[in-house]
Amino acid sequence: MRLSTITNYAYGATVALTLLSGAVMLMASSTEEKERAAVEQRALFDQMTATLEEDSYRLTEQARAFAITGDPSHIIAYRREKAALRSVEQRITHLRDQGAGIAELAALRDGLHWADALIDEQEAAIKAAQSGDQATARQILFGDEYGRELDRVAAQIGKFQYMLDQRTENTVRQATDAARQWRFMSEIMLGATALLFLCVLYFILKQRILRPVVRLSDVVSRLAAQDFAAVPPDFPQVDEIGDMAQAIRIFRENGLERQRLEQERDADRITRDQLSRMTQRLQGCDNIGDLVEVVRRFAPEIAPGFAGRLYIHDSRRNVMGQACDWLSPRQSGEEFAPTACWALRRGQIHKPTGELVDIPCEHLAGNIMAPTICIPLTAQGESIGLLYVEQPDDTTADQIGRTERYLEMLAENISLALANLRLRDALRQMAMADPLTGLANRRRFDTAFREQVLHAEATMAPLACLIADIDHFKRFNDTHGHDAGDAVLRAVGGVLNEALREKDCAFRLGGEEFLLLMPGFAQDQAIDRAIQVQQKLQELRVEHRGEELGPVTASFGLAVFPDHGRAETLVRTADAALLRAKNQGRNQIVIATVRDTASHLA
Ligand code: GH3
Ligand code: MG
Ligand code: MG
Repeated sequence: MRLSTITNYAYGATVALTLLSGAVMLMASSTEEKERAAVEQRALFDQMTATLEEDSYRLTEQARAFAITGDPSHIIAYRREKAALRSVEQRITHLRDQGAGIAELAALRDGLHWADALIDEQEAAIKAAQSGDQATARQILFGDEYGRELDRVAAQIGKFQYMLDQRTENTVRQATDAARQWRFMSEIMLGATALLFLCVLYFILKQRILRPVVRLSDVVSRLAAQDFAAVPPDFPQVDEIGDMAQAIRIFRENGLERQRLEQERDADRITRDQLSRMTQRLQGCDNIGDLVEVVRRFAPEIAPGFAGRLYIHDSRRNVMGQACDWLSPRQSGEEFAPTACWALRRGQIHKPTGELVDIPCEHLAGNIMAPTICIPLTAQGESIGLLYVEQPDDTTADQIGRTERYLEMLAENISLALANLRLRDALRQMAMADPLTGLANRRRFDTAFREQVLHAEATMAPLACLIADIDHFKRFNDTHGHDAGDAVLRAVGGVLNEALREKDCAFRLGGEEFLLLMPGFAQDQAIDRAIQVQQKLQELRVEHRGEELGPVTASFGLAVFPDHGRAETLVRTADAALLRAKNQGRNQIVIATVRDTASHLA
C-alpha cells in the first residue's frame, strides 16, 4: 500500500473520530440542556404554586378583614383577588401541558380542591357577614376547621413542590450523569484519535520509512563502493520505498553488468597484450626451434585450459609433424597426412562440435566427436602447418567464441612468423648456394672454412682441401654454347656432391672451379678421395640436347693441414698445387709441397 494511501486512511479515521467525538460532545451538551430545562420547569412550577398559596392566604385575609370590619372595600379586594386566583387555577390545570407528572398533578389537584373548599367557606362567611351575622362569619373564618383547611392547602402545595423537587433533582442528576458519561466518551474519542495519529505516525516513520530507508541507504553506500555483493532488500509493497528498492536493484544489476563487461574487457586486453608480446617474440625467432618454444609457452596463456598441438608441414615427406604440444592433448596423433585434416583440405578453421552435423578429421583418435578445433597455418595459399586444440569440458559457448577468435589471431601470427622464417631460410639458402649446381657458394665457403680452420687449429685435427678446375672448360661454351657449359657444370657439381661424407662440404668457388673441404682427412685419405673424384669425372658422360659433349677432365690441387702448413693458408697452398697441375698438362692431381707453401709466404 502506498504511503499516501495509508496517510489518507489515517486522515479519514482521524476525521471520523473527531466527528464522532464532536457528536458525543453535542450529546453531552444536549443532556445539559435537559438539565437546564428541568430546572426552568421547576422554577416555573414554583412560581405558579407559590402564587396559589399566597392568594389563598390573601383571600382569607380579605374575607377575615371584611368579617371583622364590615368594610366593603375588602369585598372588592376579595373579588379581585378571587378573580386573579381563578386565572391561577386555570394555569395550573395546564401544568400537564408543561410536563407535570400524574402524581404531581394529583397532589396539586388535592391542593386546589382544598383551596376551592376554602373559597366556599369564605363565600359563606362573607354572605353571613353581609347579612349581619358577624359572629358566624368569624366563626367560619377563624374556626379550627378553616385553619386546618388552610394548612391542608399549604401542605398539598408543599407536597406538590416536594415531588417537583424530587423529580427535578432526579432529572438534573441523570442529566449530569449522562453529560459526564458523554464527556468521558468524548475524551476517550479524542484520546483514541490522538493515539491513532501517533500510531500511524510511528508506523509510517519507523516501519515504513525509517527502517527501509536505513537498509536501502546501507546497500546504496556499499554499491557506491563497488561492493556488488550487497543485495537490495526485497520490499514488495507498492509505495515510494518499494519504487526506491526496485530502482536500487536495477542500479545493482547495471553495476554487475558493467563490472562483468569491465572484467571481460580487462581479460581481453591482457590476452591481446600476450598476443602482442608473443608476436614480438615470434618476430625475434631465428629458427623453427625458437618459434616452437614461443608457441609452446604462450598458447596455454592465450587459450587457458585448451590443450593443443602445433604441427609443421614437412614438405620432403609431405606430412604434418608435431612441433610441440601443451596441456597433454589426447586425440590427435603426432604425425598425419595433410589430407587427414579437413581444415587443411579446405584451408579453413574446422571444428566438428556443437549440435550441427559435421565430419571429424581422420587424424583424431578415440572419441572422434570430442570438441576439437583445427586451424590451418597458411602462407600464400599454401598450408604450412596446423594449430590443433581440444576444448575443455566446462567451457561456456561465450568463452569458446572468444577463445576461438584469439586462437585465430594466434594461428595468423604463427603462420606469419613461420612463413617469415621459411622465407628467411630460403633467402639464406639462396645467398649461400650456387643456383646452377646446388652446391654451397663462395660466401658459404668463406664462413665454413673459417669455422673449420678454427676447429682444426684448436684440436690439431687434420683438414684436407681439394681444389678442382675443369680443363679447357671454355671450349664447351665455345663449341656447344653457354647452356652446354652449364650442363657440364651441373654434372661436375653432382659428382662432387655424391663424393661427400657427412662431414665434408663441396663448394663452387666460381666459374668452373670447385673445392672439397674434408675435415679429419689425413693426406692419404684425401688422395684416395681425389682419385675417386677424378675417376668419376673421367667416367662422366654429359649430354646436351641429345648431343654428347665429350669427356670432362679436371686438374686437382690438394693441400692437407697440418702437413702443408697452417690451416688458414690451406686454400692458397692447394691453389698453388692446382696451378702446377695445369702447368704439368692438366687432368692430374698435384699434392702440395713445402714449396707451394713457401711460394705464397714469399
Ligand atoms: P684451363 O684449362 O686453363 O682452366 O682453361 P679454361 O678454358 O677452363 O679456363 P678459362 O679461364 O680460360 O675459361 C673459363 C671460362 O668459363 C670462361 C667463362 O666464360 C666460362 N664460364 C665461367 N662461368 C661460367 C658459367 O657459369 N657458365 C658457363 N657456361 N661458362 C662459364
Ligand atoms: Mg678456371
Ligand atoms: Mg678451367
